[in-house]
Amino acid sequence: MNELKAVAAAHGAIRVMGATVSVGARSGVVVESFRFGCQVLSDEEPLTRGMALEIQTPAPDLLCCGCGAKVADAATGGGCPLCGSSEVWPTGGDGIDLIRVELEIPDKNTVSGG
Ligand SMILES: [Zn+2]
Repeated sequence: MNELKAVAAAHGAIRVMGATVSVGARSGVVVESFRFGCQVLSDEEPLTRGMALEIQTPAPDLLCCGCGAKVADAATGGGCPLCGSSEVWPTGGDGIDLIRVELEIPDKNTVSGG
């Protein structure tokens, strides 16, 4: 939420229309709680009041212990598609990232093509 406000301030935005946040599968964050918390916080700020919040929960990457490959797709049946090892462990996906922010910027510099 502070990050949101910083982004908005950096762009001179008067309002945050919406935000897309990535919540890692291993971040230990309960998405519904996170969404609720964000909504409570955003309603307290005129800047972010009523903003649309989209939360993505990407599958974590898998790290193969057999060949060291990083496998992005968890739909491999729990094994490494490269060496066939079943020793794969989730890696990453333990943080919360701000992916996209929609801002309302009071700058009427509309591009007027001839
Ligand atoms: Zn492997």
